[in-house]
Amino acid sequence: MTAKPVPRPNADTAPYWEACNEERLLYQKCGACGHNQFYPRSICAKCGGGELAWTEAAPTGAVHSFTVVERAPSEAFKPDIPYVLALVDMADGYRMMMNVVDCDPAAVEIGMAVRIVFENRHGQKLPQATPA
Ligand SMILES: [Zn+2]
Repeated sequence: MTAKPVPRPNADTAPYWEACNEERLLYQKCGACGHNQFYPRSICAKCGGGELAWTEAAPTGAVHSFTVVERAPSEAFKPDIPYVLALVDMADGYRMMMNVVDCDPAAVEIGMAVRIVFENRHGQKLPQATPA
């Protein structure tokens, strides 16, 4: 059976993934315009500025949209189906894609409050959402 994919940190994302392994969630705040962004990049997506500060995120949000996955994209995900893939509006004003775990997929709704939990995938922890 193939394994689930694991992130490959690079210079822009390594601090983010290292914090995940400590079960802390980070995002980037632009020092020039104040924009909060995710995913990690070398410049601000809004103004192009390069003064990005790693900032600890509130580990809460709300489901913006979601789908229930019924057909696994690979063998590794077959044991999980059906599972929820969601866009989550984080409390700090950026959006992340993640699974909603530890709940009945039929119970997930747009606007549902969630909190972050971490899945340990082959030694790298990944943020996932669960009902708050
Ligand atoms: Zn900016």
